Amino acid sequence: MKAPVLYIVIPCYNEEEALPITAKRMAELLDDLTQKQLVDAKSRVTLVDDGSRDKTWEVICALNAEDKRFEGVKLAHNAGHMNALWAGMRMVCEFCDALVTIDADLQDDVNAIYGFLEKYREGCDVVYGVRNDRSTDTAFKRTTAQGFYRLMKRLGVEMVYNAADYRLLSRRAVEALLQFGEVNMFLRGMVPLLGFKTAEVYYERGERVAGESKYPLKKMVAFAIEGITSFSNKPIRFVTLLGFLFAVLGVAMAVYVLVTLFAGHSVAGWASTIMSIWLLGGIQLIALGLIGEYVGKIYMETKRRPKFILEEYRK
Ligand code: UDP
Ligand code: MG
Repeated sequence: MKAPVLYIVIPCYNEEEALPITAKRMAELLDDLTQKQLVDAKSRVTLVDDGSRDKTWEVICALNAEDKRFEGVKLAHNAGHMNALWAGMRMVCEFCDALVTIDADLQDDVNAIYGFLEKYREGCDVVYGVRNDRSTDTAFKRTTAQGFYRLMKRLGVEMVYNAADYRLLSRRAVEALLQFGEVNMFLRGMVPLLGFKTAEVYYERGERVAGESKYPLKKMVAFAIEGITSFSNKPIRFVTLLGFLFAVLGVAMAVYVLVTLFAGHSVAGWASTIMSIWLLGGIQLIALGLIGEYVGKIYMETKRRPKFILEEYRK
């Protein structure tokens, strides 16, 4: 098998401090990979500037002037991590045989790429980088992240446990991914929908080399909500269930109220008020859930996801 043309796509948002270190590491990596003939000499590192407000773009331009293996993609505004990744994949898809996405801060061990390529050679189209230890994250980040994975699982979303956005995708996997029409992108949930032959490579996650996290708590919560609502209708179903529960309770309450009424223990007006609260409450929740079911359907339709992804057509 010919050595693949590998593109390494790196989203960068205000990474002027981390980029020079990261770029140096990437250049060394490419040198070694090409020398060992694991990748083709046409392999590149694509740096996507996600509308940074610092000197990130200047750093990228300097890198590009110095070494043509570094390419720059500049987004006109801060589109967000997922969209920056998407943009990068979109731009390089036609030039590569495989691509790796990795964060700009070197928290993910670049040596895992050797493992990715090995799996790629074995015929995998999707290789996930999975961190086998989260000791460098704060206890808070660790527990919230793990709770999130568990919740997603219960909501029926297939995700690879502890896999971030560090992965290798073959060209056809990228092409398939780019067919997804959704605007709200949650790549960690979308990639497992692709299918294809898949593998995992374990690595240790380190500290950021420089700069600070671009994911403060607010963004993390937004990310989690995005993940849940982009993939699951279950919260809506929950409302419907609640409605049925309350309707049943309402009937029980009605019986109780009528018994009290005829036994003569009630104040005037109490029976009718209580009964309408319970019964109407239940009916309203059912109705809301029902409308929600349809909204959910519309929502899934508007995503225009591909109905199938072709792996092979043998004639
Ligand atoms: N990032 C981006 N756009 C944003 C926020 C982050 O492109 O709006 C990039 C950032 O430059 C980094 C990656 O996404 O390469 C992950 O961000 P970070 O390392 O800050 O997240 P953490 O590791 O703390 O979860
Ligand atoms: Mg990071």
